[in-house]
Amino acid sequence: MTSTEIRQQFLAFFQSKGHLIVPSAPLVAKNDPTLLFNNSGMAQFKDFFLGNGTPPSKRIADTQKCLRVSGKHNDLEDVGFDTYHHTMFEMLGNWSFGDYFKKEALAWSWELLTEVYKLPKERIYVSVFEGDAKDGVPFDQEAFDIWKAIVGEERIILGNKKDNFWEMGETGPCGPCSEIHIDLRNQDEVDRIPGKSLVNADHPQVVEIWNNVFMQFERMADGSLVSLPSKHVDTGMGFERLCMAIQGKQSNYDTDVFQGSIQHLAKKSGIAYGQDQWTDIAMRVIADHIRAIAFSISDGQLPSNAKAGYVIRRILRRAVRYGYTYLGFKEPFMHELIPLLAQQFSGVFDELISQEAFVAKVIYEEEVSFLRTLSTGLVRLDKLMEETQAQGTQILTGEDVFELNDTYGFPVDLTALIAREKGMDIDEPGFQQALNAQKNRSRKDAGASAEDWVNLFDSDEISFVGYDHTTWTTRVVKYQKVQNKAGIQYKIVLESTPFYAESGGQVGDSGFLYFKKSGKRIAISDTKKENDLIVHWTTDSSIEELAQEEEVVAQIDESRRNAITSHHSSTHLMQAALQQILGKHVAQKGSLVNEQLLRFDFSHFQKVTDEELKQIEDMVNAKIAANIPLVEERNVPISQAKDKGAMALFGEKYGDFVRVITFDPTYSVELCGGTHVKSTGEIALFKILSESSVATGVRRIEAVTSQKAFDLLNQQANQLEQINELLKAPKDIIKAVASLIEQNSSLQKTIAQYQANEIKLLKAELTQQILGKGELLYLIQQVAVPQADALKNLAFDLSNEHQNLFCLLVAEIDGKASLALAISKELVASKSLDAGKIIRDLAKEVQGGGGGQAFLATAGGQNPQGIPQVIKLAQQFI
Ligand code: ATP
Ligand code: MG
Repeated sequence: MTSTEIRQQFLAFFQSKGHLIVPSAPLVAKNDPTLLFNNSGMAQFKDFFLGNGTPPSKRIADTQKCLRVSGKHNDLEDVGFDTYHHTMFEMLGNWSFGDYFKKEALAWSWELLTEVYKLPKERIYVSVFEGDAKDGVPFDQEAFDIWKAIVGEERIILGNKKDNFWEMGETGPCGPCSEIHIDLRNQDEVDRIPGKSLVNADHPQVVEIWNNVFMQFERMADGSLVSLPSKHVDTGMGFERLCMAIQGKQSNYDTDVFQGSIQHLAKKSGIAYGQDQWTDIAMRVIADHIRAIAFSISDGQLPSNAKAGYVIRRILRRAVRYGYTYLGFKEPFMHELIPLLAQQFSGVFDELISQEAFVAKVIYEEEVSFLRTLSTGLVRLDKLMEETQAQGTQILTGEDVFELNDTYGFPVDLTALIAREKGMDIDEPGFQQALNAQKNRSRKDAGASAEDWVNLFDSDEISFVGYDHTTWTTRVVKYQKVQNKAGIQYKIVLESTPFYAESGGQVGDSGFLYFKKSGKRIAISDTKKENDLIVHWTTDSSIEELAQEEEVVAQIDESRRNAITSHHSSTHLMQAALQQILGKHVAQKGSLVNEQLLRFDFSHFQKVTDEELKQIEDMVNAKIAANIPLVEERNVPISQAKDKGAMALFGEKYGDFVRVITFDPTYSVELCGGTHVKSTGEIALFKILSESSVATGVRRIEAVTSQKAFDLLNQQANQLEQINELLKAPKDIIKAVASLIEQNSSLQKTIAQYQANEIKLLKAELTQQILGKGELLYLIQQVAVPQADALKNLAFDLSNEHQNLFCLLVAEIDGKASLALAISKELVASKSLDAGKIIRDLAKEVQGGGGGQAFLATAGGQNPQGIPQVIKLAQQFI
């Protein structure tokens, strides 16, 4: 059975059991402050388990792209070394939201594995939670009894809290789980050692394939457990491991999921897979990592220097180095795997094939930039390791690790990995110290010291009414006090709200909550989405008492919202213009819409020319002038929206129903949750501020609209008016400025000539005034020159032209005293003079300071009245 068929059968099986099949959420987690990447199938349904919102069906199944390289689940270290942990993998899952429970879930999993996939029953083991007296959670008798009837007691293993009890976080839903393990060893080995004893013992052929979680409790902030009124099922099965089992392989990499890439690498390197431990590891690492990188980029996360972007960069560099060291790839090679993957996943995760060229290009550029420093970095690392070992230690210092990171772009884990290959380790805390203030790369858990939510009443639906209203009377559902970097703040959830929560690039609304009974009001500074809740932020602690009141009027800052809305609608108009003018390859890569401006990042490989920018601006303004009415459709089935030609915005999580925003069906049709003008005429004016590069193949345009655009034009017109006045209103202002510039430069030239001549004359004159003879000549004079530089050059030239000359020239320039002292080299030597020292003493007379070398020094001073005294002192000195 091919992997494609295996996936299809899973979905078809659960569809036949009444499940709704939904698409995978993006790999990159949005709207969840606790996650960088989706790391399990349930992540996109978290809200339903928390009781926020209603799932589109009580039974759902899907295949979810997961990435386990950071945070709670981090398998990176094992990937490539073992044969069954990946960075990115597909998790097949089925869910029950308060519908079926253990009996159905377990029976179905058995049916699917043994009857549909025909896996051998005698090779399957299951685990059941044994209970934890200390924690007050009982043995899972229910699951035990169900399994006993299906597989018999001898195939059941009892598991402890670590393996068999799942918790969403420190607080929240939790419950026991039951894992399904399979023994894939050959019969000889099975006869020798019973499989049961190898379960959960890290044996590569006795692996967990499926985990069934039963959410039946909720963990409170004080650690206690309460029973959930409605119980849920959350299961996850590793797709690649399942393929290994069904295809009769002993490694995930031997299945058709990975063989395409592995064979490509074997051919390219001329090294067969299965020949050598290290070249095998390298091929596995590359075949695995390229998937994680490709799907992160196609889901909108570009490699970068911070947060999720840095995780991607690290994975990429790890793979590049394996190819470089073990497979001899000295030129970019990862990007070549993209067409293969795009084909393989077309029809499953189409986001890759639709952005194939872009993804390959981004990866290529990343490879080129890392390969540039990789070889020198590896030489440096070898040397550092040698030196370290010579000192009798096996641990690279934090400073060394930092240097490799800073100078050669070696991520810490890469350095650690290479060190480990040599039996060494790194001083990680030392590195952190060295890195210290540099960057805060880990997302700070926003609710780190949050208190429990204070619930005022239960509400099934939290609704957003802000598309139609700016003021709305409602109730406070709950609030929470949190302490973060900004101090103490409160999060407030309303039953229904006109406040738009930051998403899709549009910033959150600000405004006020009026409490009717007390007549008090509190300011809302921002509105954010947290999972699917709309959270209003305030610093006003009076919410603690006011929340009890029955009626609250929520009112957004309307003029701010209008400015934001105008920028958002203009973004749509501009995106359509970009596609028409630059081409269909233009896809959104990032967007920010606030009251100040709109910022739009998109894929495009060259600078957008001034001519193109003008065309874009003109097209948008023409659409504004055409006053195109908004067509807003809510709750459109996603397939129907796609038929209309809606461009999906990247990285957004879409339910089965979406909102479609259209400004002329032949011009701009987009899936969008943001707020928009009723017709484009409201925007009035659109003006581009700048065009720039953000990353490889990604350009950025910033623009302003409405009042901001008028302000900008007015300001420019104003400046022009002032220039016009200064120039005494010439007929043609541009010609006038151009001729002014020309005149100026020709005058400069003339002046320079005059000055040069004058200095020549002055020098001739001064030569006549040199006194003394033989061993000591001297010239001490006040002169008139326009710049201190001329004074210095004059003194220096004279001291060069005459042997044994002590030449002090003093001038008053722009109301200040300027001194230059040059002493001929012979005189410096014979009398051991130091012009720098002498001039410092002289400069005191003009309240100044200076210095220089023994043969040439200069000084300046505030007080030109001291000049005669300087001259007198110098003469005395001579
Ligand atoms: P393991 O102990 O093998 O790491 P787990 O307990 O971390 O697995 P779960 O979090 O229960 O796994 O995830 C559900 C299923 O997803 C597992 O049964 C397994 O089949 C699969 N899985 C988990 N982690 C990975 C991974 N890194 N690569 C591939 N499949 C995985
Ligand atoms: Mg794990």
